[in-house]
Amino acid sequence: MQFLSLLLRNRLAAAGGVVLSLVLLLALVTPLLPLANPDVTDTANRFLMPGEQGHWLGTDHLGRDLLARLLHGTRLSLAVGFAAAFFAAFFGAAIGIIAGYFGGRTDNLIMRGVDMLMAFPYILLALAIVAALGPGLTNALIAVAAVNVPFFARNIRGVTVGLAHKEFVDAARLAGLGHTRIILTEILPNVIPVIVIAMSTTIGWMILETAGLSFLGLGSQPPQADLGSMLGEARGALITNPHTSVVPGAMILVIVMSINLLGDGVRDALDPRLRSGALTRPMPATRVERKGTIPAEGEGGAVLNLRQLQTQFHVKNRIYKAVGGVDLKVAPGECLGVIGESGSGKSVTALSVMGLVASPPGVITGGAVYFQGQDLVGAPYERLRALRGDKVAYIFQDPLATLHPLYKVGDQLVEAIRVHHPVSRSEARARAVALLKQVRIPNAESRIDSYPHEMSGGMRQRVGIAMALANDPEVIIADEPTTALDVTVQAQILSLLDDLRRERGLAIIFITHDFGVVAQLCDRVAVMYAGRIVETGPTAAVLRAPAHPYTSRLIACVPELGGGRRRLEAIPGLPPAVDRLEPGCAFAPRCLKASAACREGDIALEGPGARAVRCIHPEAELEEGVA
Ligand code: ADP
Ligand code: MG
Repeated sequence: MQFLSLLLRNRLAAAGGVVLSLVLLLALVTPLLPLANPDVTDTANRFLMPGEQGHWLGTDHLGRDLLARLLHGTRLSLAVGFAAAFFAAFFGAAIGIIAGYFGGRTDNLIMRGVDMLMAFPYILLALAIVAALGPGLTNALIAVAAVNVPFFARNIRGVTVGLAHKEFVDAARLAGLGHTRIILTEILPNVIPVIVIAMSTTIGWMILETAGLSFLGLGSQPPQADLGSMLGEARGALITNPHTSVVPGAMILVIVMSINLLGDGVRDALDPRLRSGALTRPMPATRVERKGTIPAEGEGGAVLNLRQLQTQFHVKNRIYKAVGGVDLKVAPGECLGVIGESGSGKSVTALSVMGLVASPPGVITGGAVYFQGQDLVGAPYERLRALRGDKVAYIFQDPLATLHPLYKVGDQLVEAIRVHHPVSRSEARARAVALLKQVRIPNAESRIDSYPHEMSGGMRQRVGIAMALANDPEVIIADEPTTALDVTVQAQILSLLDDLRRERGLAIIFITHDFGVVAQLCDRVAVMYAGRIVETGPTAAVLRAPAHPYTSRLIACVPELGGGRRRLEAIPGLPPAVDRLEPGCAFAPRCLKASAACREGDIALEGPGARAVRCIHPEAELEEGVA
């Protein structure tokens, strides 16, 4: 069970679990133990110290055996605490689900009632309930459960509201299920984890509250012992005979602490977002662990020059070699296409440039990234931060995920500018309008005050491009910027990027999985497979005579308009898992030409001039490419 192993990995929670189990076990077997009768008084032996006359923990002010009272009291306190938590959770969840599911007036009525209950201070409300019902343990239980119902109701209502309009609930309704069935089969399973979490974090509280009521004499009535009433009775002898208070006090501490530690652990283990280690905050720049650096030879006027870059993910004892030694460079005004199937390491390569791969688990294990001749791998964070978004800007795939939903796009643009340049707000705003015009957003002056959700996907992506252009970068890295758009908008955005690089001399690294897009936009192309470049060259030369079998099969996957009917060739098989790469060519298992030699040793990326291929059976002779 994954849940248990996750829970046990959390040391504190495991310790809490062990202690709590011991206490529960003791409470369960208490009636079987050879203990003195906890309620028999023996005034001759009042306030015996622990160990005296066979009383292990001594006696209280009436000469009753403290050990016996402690164990019976613990049993009672636990029972009342758990019962209160159960009732509070049951009624609170029921109220919350009904309010959240039906919504509208039902919701309003119920929740305003709950609000009224919540307006009273906790303990005051409990006191009032006990005062009305009369003192006694059962009434204390009712009071504690009642004051906790609003907490559960609010929590569960919030979750239910989010679920009540989900597609699967609508589908169930259309399928003819009644409200009760929907609540029981569709809603309840989704809120149970929340209920369990809320319970595990409040049981400790409820035990404390019950003890509090008993301490005030409103809970368990003499001679019956629970932890709170024991404390209350010992109050008078706090100074003269402290052991009478310490014994029940320590037990309360142990119980509540172990429950809370365990509860926190349960919450962490049940929350799917925390499960994947989201609690560990990523470092501001990717961790670097490399031995020696690689000189920036063959610069050739490039602004950005990646040399033998290696990025891995270290997850537990697995190593995912997402990027396994990549060489790439772009010159000002040039557009380099990086193409490959999904999972081939394109995004990780792009993010490694500015140290944006999340660490943990990402680690840059080798190579160098030269920007204007200076190595960025392992550069101080301040330097990376100054460059990010200023000299090197990114455009990501999903503009809805990259724009903040609660800020107007104009404000986000202004912020992007003012982070890097000390200009006034109005100046930055004027610049933002100019940028929006430049990316051809109609009515830029009014559009600047739109929220991201008020724009279409194509427009949002233009805002993303405007943001990337905000500080006049030298390099733009575009990671599949048009994948989420329809073809007409895609064509507009591609021509926009093309104009921009010609006007401004931008260097663009354009990541895509579509050879059609590469043909339209890119001067050169690098084909990536399993974290390595397998072929590179001027776009026209690669398209005319692809040399790597992978490249030619990728090209064969692109349909041609007006090219007549032909069979589209899908590439059989799947890209390899990067944590189990075999020696030799990673494409060999899917390649029709693969021979034994392909599966042995490293194959070099070689070729004349700008053309190079990593293959021993190339499909075409490499001609020295001319751009
Ligand atoms: P793409 O070419 O589609 O952009 P990516 O660069 O996103 O591919 O991913 C490259 C490889 O890295 C994939 O095989 C992916 O499974 C792996 N990978 C990405 N992120 C992680 C991670 N956090 N942990 C382990 N492996 C990862
Ligand atoms: Mg990607």
